[in-house]
Amino acid sequence: MTAATEVLPGLDHWFARDLPELAVAWQPSAVPAPELVALNEALAVSLGLSPSALRSADGVAVLAGNAVPAGAQPVAMAYAGHQFGNYSPRLGDGRALLLGELTLADGRRRDVHLKGSGRTPFARGGDGKAALGPMLREFLIAEAMHALGVPTTRALAVATTGEQVVRETALPGAVLTRVAASHLRVGMFEYAARLPDPTVVQRLADHAIARHHPSAAAAEQPSVALLSAVVDAQASLVARWMLLGFIHGVMNTDNMTISGEGIDYGPCAFMDRYDPQTVFSSIDHGGRYAYGNQPGIAQWNLARLAETLLPLMADDEEAAVALAMEQLERFPERFQQHWSAGMRAKLGLVDEADGDRELFNDLLAELASMRADYTGTFRSLADVLRCAAATALPEGWLSRWRARLAAEGRDIAGVADEMDRVNPRFIPRNHHVERVLDAATAGDMQPFEELLEVVTHPYDVRPEWAEFEGAAAEEFAATHRTFCGT
Ligand code: AMP
Ligand code: MG
Repeated sequence: MTAATEVLPGLDHWFARDLPELAVAWQPSAVPAPELVALNEALAVSLGLSPSALRSADGVAVLAGNAVPAGAQPVAMAYAGHQFGNYSPRLGDGRALLLGELTLADGRRRDVHLKGSGRTPFARGGDGKAALGPMLREFLIAEAMHALGVPTTRALAVATTGEQVVRETALPGAVLTRVAASHLRVGMFEYAARLPDPTVVQRLADHAIARHHPSAAAAEQPSVALLSAVVDAQASLVARWMLLGFIHGVMNTDNMTISGEGIDYGPCAFMDRYDPQTVFSSIDHGGRYAYGNQPGIAQWNLARLAETLLPLMADDEEAAVALAMEQLERFPERFQQHWSAGMRAKLGLVDEADGDRELFNDLLAELASMRADYTGTFRSLADVLRCAAATALPEGWLSRWRARLAAEGRDIAGVADEMDRVNPRFIPRNHHVERVLDAATAGDMQPFEELLEVVTHPYDVRPEWAEFEGAAAEEFAATHRTFCGT
């Protein structure tokens, strides 16, 4: 089960070495007929990998989980998690494996991870497999996020396995190769903190600091500095999502990273019509993870992280809680700063001014009452400034906005051009995502490739891509849910 070394040269096993208690050595399952259906050549090159080696028979065998690179020691990672608010003490990689870490030219590390590579000791009742559609969805969303400048795990490849996986129907099986700054999650701290050996959570915190927040190592209290850094990274990430109208869908603590990368794009979506109550997961009956709840949920998840760090912060529990609370309470303000700065940029403004909050919130209230397309409305504002587009926004709000722009006194043509570099034209709209995943499941990858090209050029002006711009018909939006049969 080993393949030539040149497929993923130089794989290290930093995580498994530092944290053997959280790493179960395991092998991917053999599959009958691996076939590479998507390869991210630009990402491969940026990782120092050879696209032709990845496309070779040995490469495809690795990407489908049919072989591991020589010297690789794959592990299933252990973690727990709060799912929809309820604690599950043992989740872990039930159908995924960490192959190891690549070291980039600048010394940073990147995890290489297989998803859908067979049952592991964490599989519980699951089959360990993944279907092609959900793996391609993750590919599209991750690469769109990256193109939009949002921290995210990346998709290196999807290979089909030649097997059928049984969900509501039989579907083609596939393996996603995911690349991330790491797969350390809040849920991993929850798992580590409940182990009898108190050194595990300490070593996990040290590993996370070394890897993602190295300046925290020199702080007076590194665990407080780590929490502070994760609060900042997540406040920034969730602000970016909110500014894009993105709904993650399953913000469980096992799907929240320490690095601040977005991860696990299952039942997620970019909103068409603006409505803060929008929910996209078919299993989220209570609306816990609705669009407008995401900042609050992020803070709740960070509180679960903070709890695991208390023993590292101070011997006296009351003192530790005070230190943790001080960091957690910074979240709303940090989020608001990131969000306001982003909203200002979306509206072509640079200076903070009294009344900005009202200007932003009144615009969102108008969008909600008009059921206006979120992305399309923001993108059109630059053309409104150029007097090249009409808008249904009320004159009252428009004149306040224009007055703010006039007060800043910048050249309006330049402002409009800047806005076009901030407000995307092309996002992965649900109706297109569903269409191309259905085609791929039926054997036609061409629509997926076309949509991937579109969403990885989000700010371009491409008249031939006009069909990718608009919102779906109301009927689609009313019935659409991303099903969690991933
Ligand atoms: P996810 O919804 O992908 O974030 O997964 C949540 C948990 O369920 C993780 O522990 C996964 O490893 C596990 N899981 C999801 N699908 C499967 C599957 N088909 N087989 C085994 N484990 C799974
Ligand atoms: Mg997950």
